[in-house]
Amino acid sequence: MVRAKKKNQFASIRHIALDMDGTIYKDGIPFSFTKEFLINLQNMGINYTFLTNNNSKTVSEYLGIIQALGLDVTVDNIFTSSQATLRYIQNTYPESNKLFILGTDGMKQEFRNVGYSIVSENPQQEPELVIVGFDTGLTFESLTIGAYWIKQGKPFIATHPDFSCPTDQPRVLVDCGAVCAALEKATGVAPEAIPGKPNPIMLEGIIEKFSLQAHELAVVGDRLNTDIAMTQNSDIVGILVLTGVTAEEDLRNSPFTPDVVVPSIEQLGVLLQRSRQLKVE
Ligand SMILES: [Mg+2]
Repeated sequence: MVRAKKKNQFASIRHIALDMDGTIYKDGIPFSFTKEFLINLQNMGINYTFLTNNNSKTVSEYLGIIQALGLDVTVDNIFTSSQATLRYIQNTYPESNKLFILGTDGMKQEFRNVGYSIVSENPQQEPELVIVGFDTGLTFESLTIGAYWIKQGKPFIATHPDFSCPTDQPRVLVDCGAVCAALEKATGVAPEAIPGKPNPIMLEGIIEKFSLQAHELAVVGDRLNTDIAMTQNSDIVGILVLTGVTAEEDLRNSPFTPDVVVPSIEQLGVLLQRSRQLKVE
């Protein structure tokens, strides 16, 4: 299914933002066609970025995971909600440097790497901003100090809205959105910004980093309310794959409409190749 409006845009795609779970792999195992799809993209001169809200791991950790799958990528190919949040705070609070972060050590290190100082959980150290990510080491102590600073009026930023993170283990991985809901209940203050998916800020970073025009970018993912939602009311091409959480019948009641629906990235590769052959003819 290809919506007419953006059908002819396929030939101009220069970059693809790829969701990870449900799009290039499932339960950590890549699809049999994933590697070939990425090689085909390279052969067609199409660059790609892996896009994920899960910032419990760093870009370098993701790099290790993806390389272990036998895929050829560099740090430039990975963009998480932490990068989107960095971009947000650099633009919105250029003078601020001291951050209170509810997040993993790896997440804190990513902010340190670009010059931020991370204040400890000692209430004597006053932060300028409070940032909440997916903190898999969350403690009651850190939660209460974070809530204190929010109550004191420090800008409160959530990296992404997910309430839980998928797992096949017998537990619910309480994610950033759920922790922020607890903080909001306790303080009466909601996050002022949530730069991760489905916020288009996530894509603005990629457009800027790779000097793209909106119509040269496509987003490929398995979720209508995050991956596809980012592309609505824009020139960015939204491509839904059916290898993850969404089935074709879910489209009927969805407020988010993809421009293209393909069974998997394997068929997307064929469509892209065809668009380039047509262009040559
Ligand atoms: Mg997904």
